[in-house]
Amino acid sequence: MKIAIIGLGFVGLSFATVLASKSYHVFGIDSDKNKIHKIKSGNPTFYEPKLQQMLSKALQKHFSVSSDVLSIIRQCDLIFITVGTPKSKNGYIDLYMLKNAIKQLGKALSQTNNSPVIIIKSTIVPGTTQNIVQPILEKNSGKSLGNGFELITNPEFLREGNAINDTLKPHVIIIGGENKTAIHKVKEFYKKLYDSSIPTFITNHQTAEMIKYTNNSFLATKISFINQIANICQSIPGINVDEVAKAIGLDPRIGPLFLNAGPGYGGSCLPKDLQTMITFSSKIGHKPLLLTAVQQTNALQITNITNLIYKLLGTLKQKNITILGLSFKENSDDIRESVSIKLIKLLLTKGSSITVYDPKAIDNTRKVFNNKINYATTINDSLKNSHCAIIMTAWKQFRKLNTGNFKNMKRKLIIDTRRILENKNTNVEYYALGIGQ
Ligand code: NAD
Repeated sequence: MKIAIIGLGFVGLSFATVLASKSYHVFGIDSDKNKIHKIKSGNPTFYEPKLQQMLSKALQKHFSVSSDVLSIIRQCDLIFITVGTPKSKNGYIDLYMLKNAIKQLGKALSQTNNSPVIIIKSTIVPGTTQNIVQPILEKNSGKSLGNGFELITNPEFLREGNAINDTLKPHVIIIGGENKTAIHKVKEFYKKLYDSSIPTFITNHQTAEMIKYTNNSFLATKISFINQIANICQSIPGINVDEVAKAIGLDPRIGPLFLNAGPGYGGSCLPKDLQTMITFSSKIGHKPLLLTAVQQTNALQITNITNLIYKLLGTLKQKNITILGLSFKENSDDIRESVSIKLIKLLLTKGSSITVYDPKAIDNTRKVFNNKINYATTINDSLKNSHCAIIMTAWKQFRKLNTGNFKNMKRKLIIDTRRILENKNTNVEYYALGIGQ
């Protein structure tokens, strides 16, 4: 079976390399020529554990990158769309990438007799597949749904930093559609790709689209919930939010995951998807009070960090502050909507001097701040002469920091927003979000 993947970002490239590792013939397409060039030479444009190794192997045999949409449409049975659906200025999703990709696909379809199943993996609000994707395809191909192409909605749930593992073993497969033959074809494809232990959920397009937004809205809610509890815990000496989270997580109705309090959620998905859900809900006449509160709670978390710094340092002016961790989560170089980046921007406005360290995200951060901040190549260098170090991302390198690492700090003050520092030496002033003192 030959498969095409349009959009080779986190989702598309992870999916393509996993399929190729299982001997599927995969054709990848991306509109970014620079990205194509890098991928062809075996270099992903972002960091993801295991990806580079798998990509190199994939390129040797089963994965080819192309820009010839027509030749691919002629050959492929399944065409996955994994282009970005970023946040637009008015708080909605911007569909320009999806519309362009679909238009191009429609034009190519008009020149072939092949009748592929087009599968939308990109995150889109309910109604988009039927009200936007289908008409664009029909207009540009001169064909109609069921007569030249089929459409399926198949949202993606992978987590950055764990994308390959999640793609190798997803927790669920959602297949949304109207046509039984197309649904069966996609179901069989996944059954062959994975073992039958992965639950498969068949529904219509709009429900599949809604499942994705509901999923991410709930995850954001869980994070904001535990962050609010962490803020309360922090005001009560002797309480550690992690113990509270661990205990409530044993209740099967709650579950242990996504109860790690921290600086607030970031990344390319949760902030965007929650905002889109709020805008979508308001557009169709429902005031999403809870979701708005989740968003506000998340935005306020950075204030909790700065209040703590103010309390401890008195002023932020001319203080050397070290930021440990820039990516929105560990094992990723993605700084989109990262709270670290927002915190640096805020501290700069207060006159602090900032030095940063991150195992993978320095290059991306440099593009944002240029020479406005200092970039350290080692943790120890980042801590030299610092008045305060803030652990922002839960990289494993930060867990083991000890007195030796802190010895050249001007003031040995650590603020741990993730509560990951294992060795809490008495020579160090240690404060953490969610721990009452
Ligand atoms: P990304 O920005 O990393 O990649 C999107 C890719 O699409 C880019 O390489 C871009 O150049 C390419 N593209 C844009 N227009 C194109 C066109 N017309 N033709 C071909 N290629 C085109 O995005 P991503 O993170 O992989 O996300 C893709 C979709 O999956 C989004 O809707 C996102 O919300 C969703 N999603 C993302 C994640 C995640 O963790 N990143 C998880 C689940 C779902």
